Amino acid sequence: MYRRYISIVFGLLVVAVMGAAGAFAQDNSGQLREVKVVTRVLPPMVIEREKALTGFSMDLMDELANRLKLKVSYTIAPDVRALLEEVRTKRVELGIAAISITAAREAEFDFSQPMLNAGLQIMTRGQTAGGSNPLGDMLRLLISWTSLAWLGIGALLILVPAHIVWFLERRHPEGIVPTTKYMPGIFYALYWAAGTLVTQAESAPKHAFARVLAVLWMFTGVVFVALYTAQLTATLTVQQIAGGINGPEDLAGKRVAVTAGSTAAAAVRELQAQAVEVRQISEAYDALQNRTVDAIVFDAPVLMYYAANEGKGRVQLVGAPFRKEDYGIIFPRGSALRSEVNVALLRMREDGAYQRIHDRWFATR
Ligand code: GLU
Repeated sequence: MYRRYISIVFGLLVVAVMGAAGAFAQDNSGQLREVKVVTRVLPPMVIEREKALTGFSMDLMDELANRLKLKVSYTIAPDVRALLEEVRTKRVELGIAAISITAAREAEFDFSQPMLNAGLQIMTRGQTAGGSNPLGDMLRLLISWTSLAWLGIGALLILVPAHIVWFLERRHPEGIVPTTKYMPGIFYALYWAAGTLVTQAESAPKHAFARVLAVLWMFTGVVFVALYTAQLTATLTVQQIAGGINGPEDLAGKRVAVTAGSTAAAAVRELQAQAVEVRQISEAYDALQNRTVDAIVFDAPVLMYYAANEGKGRVQLVGAPFRKEDYGIIFPRGSALRSEVNVALLRMREDGAYQRIHDRWFATR
């Protein structure tokens, strides 16, 4: 009797569970789940074109939405602080842009698997951008103490061969000194010696000994010009290096543009530089061109994209990224969506979808 009762109850239970599972499955496959996502414009991670969003992070999110059957609606945060605030207060289900995974954020939020390797890099104005022009550099170099010193050495040096050549050539009928007198004969000889020293001889002495001397003097000229060139090159290089920014250590005391609340802002303060906070990265690019700042410190993928496109020829990247970071998708603490996103992200890496999206934005051509 009891047995029968139990089996009926069990039977009903099985039907109920199967029904519920079926309904859930249908819900999962048929209907799209709505998720609110916060992002922020940072080319090439997120690009805003005529009110439409594209970029690496957006393509990644589209692919995730496809796989997880999500219907995404975006809000755009003005800076990373505001973006985190949206996630913290659970006004959105997740945030995706160029969000670095940090210890402090991990303590407060949940992150997905890393979605891209990034890191902080330094950008400065290009060598030829404004201010320093090659013509000015050359003029400054020509009228420098270095040049004056070489001119002095040259002037003293030519006195020796000039006198010997004057002495040997003054009596020679076709010699380069047309008069036997010291004045103005010596000037002909000096002119020849000076010309030969800078390897621009117009004429050659006719007297046999004078010719031997001329060959020796020509060699001296070659060496003189080589040494002078080396000196100029060295001076130019030193001028370029001195006062410039060649690594993170050189940022101390400099004005450096960073976006508000970013990992770059924290790093720049650690380096004793003066952080000039802007909201949009485009404002940082403007500040660099206007000379309001000496450099920008920001995420390498973003800076590299700018340097290769819009900023080409106007900016330069200094060295490799000096601090490695990873980008992740950020969720409120305890988000149920995170593990689904993680599985999808890993699958995308395995089936090549990730690589395709990656190459669309970061392929090095
Ligand atoms: N990777 C930077 C961060 O997470 C981006 C900052 C920004 O969005 O401006 O701090």
